[in-house]
Amino acid sequence: MTFLRECFTPIYHLFFPNNCQGCGQELLSNEKTICAACLSFMPKTKFHLMIHNPVEQTFFGRCSIEYATSMYYFNKDTCLQTLLHALKYQQKPEVGFLLGNLFAREIEDVGWLKDIDVIMPIPLSAKKCKARGYNQSECISHSLSAHLNIVHDTTSLIRTKHTESQTSKTRAERLSNMSNAFSVKNADAIAGKHILLVDDVITTGATLEECTHTILRVPNTKVSIATLAYAIE
Ligand SMILES: [Zn+2]
Repeated sequence: MTFLRECFTPIYHLFFPNNCQGCGQELLSNEKTICAACLSFMPKTKFHLMIHNPVEQTFFGRCSIEYATSMYYFNKDTCLQTLLHALKYQQKPEVGFLLGNLFAREIEDVGWLKDIDVIMPIPLSAKKCKARGYNQSECISHSLSAHLNIVHDTTSLIRTKHTESQTSKTRAERLSNMSNAFSVKNADAIAGKHILLVDDVITTGATLEECTHTILRVPNTKVSIATLAYAIE
């Protein structure tokens, strides 16, 4: 079988190129989705080891967050940007599943994870989810939930408003754009729970802030935040 695989794998790759989603280089047989070089170059924040780290500071005075962390620093024109673009716009959910798994391994020993009852992705509007076919944050949260063995809830928090792209907006514009964009569908399911909200990138934090306000209206809830990338200047 090994001989057959060695003979046919190159032919298979000729028709179905197996290239790194970050740099485009052909993957080695032991690599999947992202090459080892791309993975080693992506700068880790290690925020999960820092008290009052920059992600937590983002929410100071805005909303009450228990803990927050991001795995990588996000910079333009890097393979991480290419990867997140592939995840969001090029039908590559496997990028989210893989990075979510690595994220889980990175933070698995953090003490505060023992406190988390539920992992929840930032929801997409039904319209956007239908157009994309999946929620990119859910790919990440799915892997976190599976690896950390924490309940995954993708239905209690919903997006009630389809918002325009946030990228060219200021923080104030993003906040007003986000106002009342979310709602809790099943308050009983999350009452008294500590929820870990998951997103792909944190930029101004407006979306996460609005989600947090929405969740905290349910009695005795607590919110922590985990994003794959941190893009705040
Ligand atoms: Zn690569």
